[in-house]
Amino acid sequence: MGDVAFHTATTVDEALSLVGDGSDAKVVAGGSDLIVQARGGRDLPANVVAIHRIEALRGIDASGDLTLGALASHADITASAAIRSTWTALADASAIVGSHATRNVGTIGGNVMNASPAMETGAPLLVLDARVTLRSAAGGDRTVPIDELWTGPGRTSAQPGELLIDVVVPSLPAHSGSAYVRLEYRRAMEIAIVGASACVTLDGDVVTSAAVALTAVGPTLLRSPSAAAAVIGTTGDAAALAAVAAGASADASPISDLRANEDYRRAMIGVIAKRAVDVAIRRARGEEFPIPATPVFMEGSAR
Ligand SMILES: Cc1cc2nc3c(=O)[nH]c(=O)nc-3n(C[C@H](O)[C@H](O)[C@H](O)COP(=O)(O)OP(=O)(O)OC[C@H]3O[C@@H](n4cnc5c(N)ncnc54)[C@H](O)[C@@H]3O)c2cc1C
Repeated sequence: MGDVAFHTATTVDEALSLVGDGSDAKVVAGGSDLIVQARGGRDLPANVVAIHRIEALRGIDASGDLTLGALASHADITASAAIRSTWTALADASAIVGSHATRNVGTIGGNVMNASPAMETGAPLLVLDARVTLRSAAGGDRTVPIDELWTGPGRTSAQPGELLIDVVVPSLPAHSGSAYVRLEYRRAMEIAIVGASACVTLDGDVVTSAAVALTAVGPTLLRSPSAAAAVIGTTGDAAALAAVAAGASADASPISDLRANEDYRRAMIGVIAKRAVDVAIRRARGEEFPIPATPVFMEGSAR
């Protein structure tokens, strides 16, 4: 690795001028992906621009649509009463990222821009129809729907010199619920074998709209239109949930790697998508369901 220059920006404009001057540069927020990857042998760019001191990128505003500053940490998201009650899938996801330490330093901006197909917040952001604001010194702001952000493993449609400013998640209609569930081999510090998120809206007992998205079963996070269609117009009964499972398995395009083979991932994504839809429906009905929806071992927890 060549010499790396480390800069600390205290304003967005300063960060933009440091990453937008044509030099080989990357920003670092919490560093829990970038620095860990560099320790694993991946080259750092010639210039690393730290953004963690930029106050304008902090904060969570849930007064209308939900706006997450790029530096909102997984701990901030998990602790937000508004996110837990309204955009619950996101709380389910952030609550199981790594350990307490990872959740304290790891940011939503870093999770999204690292673009891992196994990232926790990706599927919830898809089902919640999020969008991101990208800003560059030369081009100003542009809004990118989350469906158009990820272009492959570790790749986004962001241009060199663009900084993610915030993630915006629309408000939901009444009687909506959402959930994110992960399959894992151990109960902490784990990467998803597969994961799924669902968001539903009910009219009485019937699901009138639904979105389902899948984690770690494709080169990017995937929507599952078949799983969503299978539950719309139903009450989420056993037959509908079985159809959700079949739909998710059909829409997945998993790979085999040392963590799981393709067949196992395809079978399990059905099980996990079914759970996510079931929990989303229960929450939409006003039932209490623990956060995170993925069972965790905690003191006093019997789940
Ligand atoms: C022990 C451990 C456990 C983990 N467990 C999980 C897990 O369970 N689930 C999970 O999803 N992740 C996990 N991670 C990965 C990581 O913690 C998360 O992805 C975290 O959200 C990354 O945020 P960060 O601020 O640390 O990113 P950084 O490492 O600072 O940045 C990651 C990437 O995003 C870019 N970037 C960051 N912020 C911006 C911005 N505002 N604009 C443009 N580009 C930006 C950086 O240039 C870099 O390419 C784990 C990591 C560790 C070390």
